[in-house]
Amino acid sequence: MSTLDVAAVRADFPSLERTVHGKPMIYLDNAATTQTPRAVVDSIVGHYYGHKANVHRGVHCLSQEATAAMEAARERARAFIGAESTSEIVFTRGTTEAINLVASSLCQLFRPGDNIILTVMEHHSNIVPWQIAARRNGLEIKVVPILPDGSLDLDAYRALFDARTRLVAVAHVSNVLGTVNPVAEMAAEAHHHGAMILVDGAQAVAHTKVDVRAIGADFYAFSSHKMYGPNGIGILYGRREHLEAMPPYQGGGEMIGHVSFAGTTWADLPYKFEAGTPDFVDAAAFSTAVDFLEEKDIAAVAAHENALTAYATEEMMKIDGMRIFGTAPGKAAVISFLLGNAHHYDTGVLLDQLGVEVRTGHHCAQPLMETFGIEGTVRLSFAMYNTFAEVDAFLAALRRIAPML
Ligand code: PLP
Repeated sequence: MSTLDVAAVRADFPSLERTVHGKPMIYLDNAATTQTPRAVVDSIVGHYYGHKANVHRGVHCLSQEATAAMEAARERARAFIGAESTSEIVFTRGTTEAINLVASSLCQLFRPGDNIILTVMEHHSNIVPWQIAARRNGLEIKVVPILPDGSLDLDAYRALFDARTRLVAVAHVSNVLGTVNPVAEMAAEAHHHGAMILVDGAQAVAHTKVDVRAIGADFYAFSSHKMYGPNGIGILYGRREHLEAMPPYQGGGEMIGHVSFAGTTWADLPYKFEAGTPDFVDAAAFSTAVDFLEEKDIAAVAAHENALTAYATEEMMKIDGMRIFGTAPGKAAVISFLLGNAHHYDTGVLLDQLGVEVRTGHHCAQPLMETFGIEGTVRLSFAMYNTFAEVDAFLAALRRIAPML
């Protein structure tokens, strides 16, 4: 395995050079969104200046260039996650829309009394769409609990299945605990019971190689902006036979075969699920982000981020009153903590004054917060461009503010 040249990586991110409140910015909120490399921004600018046209509907040159960029990005996404065919790759606005699409469409095929299994560590975007669909379609939701270290209780998971279980929806990596869930094992269990599995990969794709077929995922969702790509675009992978069986999610242009008042037919996959003018500029820039990621050795990226996590955790635990939530073996580069009785918000505001950008709050995971009996945490999360010097600066800031809290 090669080592990551962090200085060279940082040179690709102009935003890392800015200051916050007159201090060098230390950006540790990468689980919320990553900063954007120059190549991705250049791709956006290049497409707006050079190829701006609507896709699919035009015979003219610009439209064909835009269509080619969009379809090349779809192929790039297919290869990135190891899908079999581009007809299984649906562009969405992000993870949230991808999950809403599946919940809204697929659940229409379920029968009242069927059930869905979620876990207590899910992000709200992998809870609320299922609650809405459950209410509409008369479904029951079951919830897998966690063990004290923040790993899933897999015995409880296995015990939740019954003859009416149709689907499992689980995060690949928890955005609060950093727990990496055994999704391939969970998929095998779901399939054994005749159920499908949707994996929320929002926190996984920037940190590990994802192969949807090796996992056995029926659906896999992720967002471009958490993997160095542009905002506003994401991917839903769905196995062809499921997408074929599912009714459209939204109606409009692009998603039809033929429209008449006597009855309308749907376009082939994946266009059946892509109503309206697609965001080809961001699709192309997403493809550039995939290039950017794949130029790196992802194992070296993960090793670097894990080393930062281990070092920060060890030093943080030396501070009096430190509580870290999520200590599962093999956890990813996310550290959620509380310091004594200090409110997470106060800790975050004081760190910000010293240039350290961390997230505070419930992290869109209120059921998980309830499990711990807390309202929120302070969360730092690493990307490939973070350095040990930044961890030291964060630790110095934390030690400085600790007496004030
Ligand atoms: N799932 C997880 C685990 C997340 O961490 C997030 C965002 O933080 C989402 C889903 C939602 O992603 P988006 O807001 O990009 O749709």
